[in-house]
Order: sequence, then structure tokens, then C-alpha cells
Amino acid sequence: MIKIDVLVIGKLRREEGVILEAHSTSTLITVDDTKIVVDTSTKEMRELLLHSLDGLGTSPEDIDIVVNTHLHGDHTSNNELFRNARFLAHADECPGEGYEIVQGEMDILPGVRLIHTPGHSRGSMSVVVEADRRYVITGDAMPLEDNYRKWVPPGLHYDAGLALSSMRRIVDLADVIVPGHDAPFNPDR
Ligand SMILES: [Zn+2]
Repeated sequence: MIKIDVLVIGKLRREEGVILEAHSTSTLITVDDTKIVVDTSTKEMRELLLHSLDGLGTSPEDIDIVVNTHLHGDHTSNNELFRNARFLAHADECPGEGYEIVQGEMDILPGVRLIHTPGHSRGSMSVVVEADRRYVITGDAMPLEDNYRKWVPPGLHYDAGLALSSMRRIVDLADVIVPGHDAPFNPDR
């Protein structure tokens, strides 16, 4: 059985184009006995992250795998809590020591797939999870529900066209989108 719990709902506060506050969403995927955390948010969110894990009867030591959708600091700043985990990041993020490098796309476990969704950063990945419905945990390939509603690429991107085609792919796959800095939502069908 596969279950999804959002540990931290991300935030992004911008004024006149300047980012004032950015904390990523952090999500727990439980596949039978295996626990996967996708993105670890920021130090400011640490207590909330620990509180959420505690509320689910688990702790950072119990996490088997951490997936960083990409390596911006607002998605990785609690990585150090997960002492027993393997860490996964995409090759195009040039991950340093301690990471298992994802080339292309792969299944981590049956029902949990990493797909390459570049545009925000070169190695941005999304995680496709076949739980009660199909969830796509997007990192900053889709930072906010607004990116979907207004159909605009992430404010920070190196290739707008690529970012939009990654968003298209996400929307085509997802029953539920778990964005990088926002609450989960259902794209229209
Ligand atoms: Zn980012």
C-alpha cells in the first residue's frame, strides 16, 4: 500500500518580483515498510517537519530515502536530520558527495517514479506516486497553484519553454499536484 502525507506545506512570499520568503513543501511517501521524504524544506520549518513526522508515529531516523527534487537550499536544508537515509538527486544538478545520482528517469519502488521535469533548474525532478490517486510531487517544476491557473512558468527559470512543457507533462499525469511551495490541488479534468 502506498500513502502520501504532506509534512510541510511550502510557502513563497514575493513583493514586486523580489522573493521575501521561500520554504519548500516536504512530503512523506510510505510504501509498505519503506519511508521516502521528498524535499526537506528550510531550517525555519524544521520544528514543523519534526512535529509532523512525530504525529505520524515516525522520526527522521526511520526515513529510508530522501529525494531532493533539485538542490536549491530551500528544498534541502533539513537533509542532515535524516541520518539513515539514502539521498537521491538528478545528475544535472551536479550533486556532491553523499548523493546517489539519478540519470534520466527511474522507479525507486513499484508505484514511485522519478521523472525529469527541467526548466526551473536543469536537474529538476518530479515524483509520480500511484497511491489512492496519482500524485505528482513537483518541486519547483510547479512551485504554486497559480503557475497552473495562470499557466506561467516558475518565476525563476533558465528555459521558459522547457518549464512549460514540464508543467504540461505534470498536469497530464496528475490527479493531485503537490507543488513546491503551495498546498496540494487537483488540476481540472
Ligand atoms: Zn528552486
